[in-house]
Amino acid sequence: MSEGHVDCDVAIVGCGPTGVVLANLLGGLGVRVAVLERERGVYAVPRATHIDEETLRNFQATGLIDALLPHTTPFGAIEMVDENGRVLWRDQVEDPNTPHGYAGSCFFDQPAFERILRGGLARYPDVRLHEGVDVVGVDDDGDRVTVRAKRSDADEQLAVRALWAVGCDGGRSATRDALGIEMESVAPKRPWLIVDTLLKDAADAALLPANFRYVFARERLTIYAHGIGSNRRWEFQLADDEEMPSRERVLGWISAFVDPARLEVLRIVPYAHTSLLATTWRVGRVLVAGDAAHMMPPSAGQGMCSGVRDAVNLAWKLERVLAGRARVELLDTYERERSPHVRETLKGTLFIGKRLEAGTSFRRWRRRQEMRLLAAVPALRDVARRQGVRRPPLRDGFLDRGSSSAGLALPQVDVRRSGEVHRFDDLLGYRFALVVKPGALSDGDAGWAAERGIDVWRVGVDFDETAGRFAGWMRERGLDFALARPDRHLFAAGAARDLARARAAFDRWLA
Ligand SMILES: Cc1cc2nc3c(=O)[nH]c(=O)nc-3n(C[C@H](O)[C@H](O)[C@H](O)COP(=O)(O)OP(=O)(O)OC[C@H]3O[C@@H](n4cnc5c(N)ncnc54)[C@H](O)[C@@H]3O)c2cc1C
Repeated sequence: MSEGHVDCDVAIVGCGPTGVVLANLLGGLGVRVAVLERERGVYAVPRATHIDEETLRNFQATGLIDALLPHTTPFGAIEMVDENGRVLWRDQVEDPNTPHGYAGSCFFDQPAFERILRGGLARYPDVRLHEGVDVVGVDDDGDRVTVRAKRSDADEQLAVRALWAVGCDGGRSATRDALGIEMESVAPKRPWLIVDTLLKDAADAALLPANFRYVFARERLTIYAHGIGSNRRWEFQLADDEEMPSRERVLGWISAFVDPARLEVLRIVPYAHTSLLATTWRVGRVLVAGDAAHMMPPSAGQGMCSGVRDAVNLAWKLERVLAGRARVELLDTYERERSPHVRETLKGTLFIGKRLEAGTSFRRWRRRQEMRLLAAVPALRDVARRQGVRRPPLRDGFLDRGSSSAGLALPQVDVRRSGEVHRFDDLLGYRFALVVKPGALSDGDAGWAAERGIDVWRVGVDFDETAGRFAGWMRERGLDFALARPDRHLFAAGAARDLARARAAFDRWLA
């Protein structure tokens, strides 16, 4: 058996959504990356269908958002429907006031996204995707990591030597196993069944609900998602001890919605809802991200979104440490920031799941009453939304703890520079940004920022905003400056006098 060698800064195991976003971001930062992926090409059937506005923004950090957006469509409304088809509650999933520059959740075409993101890697000569290689071992000798893989179509082994490795290899992560990382089970496993179909005739869309639906069928909770284009998905909850139903039986369930003969069935697969969280996200020179670090039921559509948050949180930290511009402990803030955030997201997902499931007639009655109440009382609806969709700010990690705005998101607005309109993040790039009111920055501050690779953006001088929202945000919070991390979380923000404290807090992390 022959053996090939590759040397790089970061080895990424797995090129799913998490791995491919991480590789793009690292490539953009000039890091030498090897991505090792077992499969050849992108899996053609979408798994994730929902993407939230913050994740759209995170995908934007790859520089590919203009190519990705045509493969999205607004999510529209969620409907809770009783077994007679009566809508108990309809909730419009949009919010023009999010800080992220997108007005709410979307359906998206996962295979199209993955193809574009993989294509994006070609922009970086130092990023190499190795497809058809199955990672079988990860060894960390303290100075380097060796990732060992087998080529699936040749009698050949590959050894990748890297300074750091990141396991983005999904729920059955070999990397996680090699590190001996345990997963905490936050809630019991629940069996579900997924049916992915395509409408044979696009005109049949009119026969099916136009919105995403939870259907409170008497015998089992059912989810209907119209997805993007002609994709139509049903998810059926199974009882804990229920056997895998026959294809005929499943098509019988679908016939309550539409004649299954009108559908091309792509797959009928069992899918367990698991709620798992890694107990450690880094061991030595190896980290885990995405489903390798956490798994959650898809009820709130947050699994992939969370993996992309991991990638956006981690890439710049790896680059800073590799460049000798930050202490290695910066990498520990990855788990400190991401793990509590995922736990909150998971709690929201479980909150939604609990409201929807109903194994007894009493619970079904209670579920109907809850839905009626939510439909009737707007204040309760807002509480339920907050419980179900949890996007907490960062509370611990690489932040100036003295700043009350630290951990919040820098608002993304449309801005004008040299006569052209840009999304703010496109202007800032995946880099540190110190946004200041003119006059709030001394020459010393500017020199400090330049030495640390922090770009300075003066409001009204280096850019103008188009709608006044950003200025309003600074005014409301009494801000003269906002120091944003590449992942667009604020490291610090405050009045001009607070900048000295923020500088000192930042410098405590320097190598
Ligand atoms: C039915 C369903 C619906 C979902 N809906 C949503 C949704 O609407 N919104 C949402 O945000 N999330 C959703 N999710 C969750 C989402 O799909 C996952 O969270 C997401 O795919 C995780 O991405 P990942 O890159 O971390 O892992 P994966 O997508 O699992 O990718 C891992 C990659 O690693 C590769 N790999 C694995 N082992 C090896 C190895 N040993 N060597 C080399 N390569 C390896 C795999 O081939 C794969 O390409 C859904 C999931 C399912 C199943």
